[in-house]
Amino acid sequence: MHRFFIEPGQITEQSIVISGEDFKHITKVLRLGKDDVVEVCDGTGTDYQVVLNTPGDQTIAGVIKEHYPSLGENPELSVTLFQGLPKGTKMEVIIQKCVELGVVEIVPFSSMRTISQIKDKKDKKIERWQRIAYEAAKQSKRGIIPVVKDLQTLKDVLKEAAHFDLLLLAYEDENKRSLKVALMDFEKKSEAGKCLKIGVIIGPEGGFDPQEAEACRAAGIISVSLGTRILRTETAGMVVLSQLNFWK
Ligand code: SAM
Repeated sequence: MHRFFIEPGQITEQSIVISGEDFKHITKVLRLGKDDVVEVCDGTGTDYQVVLNTPGDQTIAGVIKEHYPSLGENPELSVTLFQGLPKGTKMEVIIQKCVELGVVEIVPFSSMRTISQIKDKKDKKIERWQRIAYEAAKQSKRGIIPVVKDLQTLKDVLKEAAHFDLLLLAYEDENKRSLKVALMDFEKKSEAGKCLKIGVIIGPEGGFDPQEAEACRAAGIISVSLGTRILRTETAGMVVLSQLNFWK
């Protein structure tokens, strides 16, 4: 069934109205019309099954048959990826795959060993990355559109620790605590049934300077190993998200 994101403002009690690019796609490309059924998502976790009316000039309305929580979201987990700015176009792959794997927010950051630079916080790249997140959310039938935040520094990230139930540092030189052990320890102390807000920090190609790892630990961030092999920066976030999906 074709699926579209719409703004909550386009939904009333019984009906929805689709306009813009999606209107054109529905009528000109998919050639859908009266009595065809589509699925729309309000981007805040609810999906609607809609029976379309006859298209107008610029919009097409539909009657809501039923609505239900989006299956593309995990009510027990809200994961934020803090990604050390990688070189080239790797960030595009990271965003696409991590959206498919359920990430809710992606925060690019610069640190001592990041080589790639973004001109300023509002760099055009961020707009492009947000578009990639939107397309991946549509393709993977997410119930929300993950947000790509403006560029931060690792220092900014440290200040975020208090806003998370668990903030993890994937640290290549951590050789004591595995991700599995960290999650098991955390589970003992966490409330069952609560939606857990978890953050994971992934370094750039050059990794983390020991001083940075120390500063993270001092801020209450838990450093974890992802195993004895060194993963590429574009692989590491996916590994953590996959393991969190297995865990919850
Ligand atoms: N330059 C580092 C080195 O050669 O040891 C490798 C950095 S790795 C390419 C990029 C990031 O992926 C790391 O900073 C870390 O966040 C994560 N990562 C990769 N392999 C890891 C592992 N085995 N354990 C924990 N984190 C890992």
